[in-house]
Amino acid sequence: CGIIGYVGSGDETADILMSGLFNLEYRGYDSAGIALIEPSLTMYKKAGEVTELERSLPSDTVRGAVGIGHTRWSTHGAPSDANAHPHTDCNGDVAVVHNGIIENYQELRAELADSGHEFESETDTEVVPHLIESFLETGANPEHAFRLAIDRIDGSYAIAAVFEDTEAVYAVRKHSPLVLGLGEDGNYLASDVPAFIAHTDRVIYLEDGEFVRLTEDEVVVTNTTGDVLEKTVDTIDWDP
Ligand code: GLU
Repeated sequence: CGIIGYVGSGDETADILMSGLFNLEYRGYDSAGIALIEPSLTMYKKAGEVTELERSLPSDTVRGAVGIGHTRWSTHGAPSDANAHPHTDCNGDVAVVHNGIIENYQELRAELADSGHEFESETDTEVVPHLIESFLETGANPEHAFRLAIDRIDGSYAIAAVFEDTEAVYAVRKHSPLVLGLGEDGNYLASDVPAFIAHTDRVIYLEDGEFVRLTEDEVVVTNTTGDVLEKTVDTIDWDP
């Protein structure tokens, strides 16, 4: 029930994601996971508490400037390591985290299975990385493949994705919260401000139907047709 994303310069990404997940625990969850681009894609995920995920991380090998994290409140598929997010595609090119419900996942799953996609979880979410993969295979770049995939899904969602060898986080929301944090040392996105308030108090609230491409020094918000939007930057008055 929580998402955190970060793009920065250093080796602190895993720590930033993990502290973000701890600060989102209040929202409730049954599983947790992170994905890092190091620059190859690596995922760590576990049913149970964020502390269990933390214990399972290899202390010296978790690096990378780009990452996403998730706490899951199961709606489709039991709480298990396999059903925990992030989810990936057959080639391991993309990792996706999702809060909400994808209502047309059964028909999408059947269609993707027919064209050879193999699924590793029982979640509604897993259709998203496979849809993205199907568009990557037709030659679309990551951002375009992400948009085309989102165009196919119905339901409620906050979704964030990272791609192998790509220094950006892509995200979108519809009926599920997502807020951006503009930092000195990189940029953040999360379901709620506590996830990154230790790093920045400058925020942009995403509205339904808005997409974002987050890089180390840029946050570009667009609408469904791809027009760049001028968003207001708010400063949060936070009293911890
Ligand atoms: N529907 C997804 C699942 O069951 C996401 C649940 C959530 O919002 O955490 O995996």
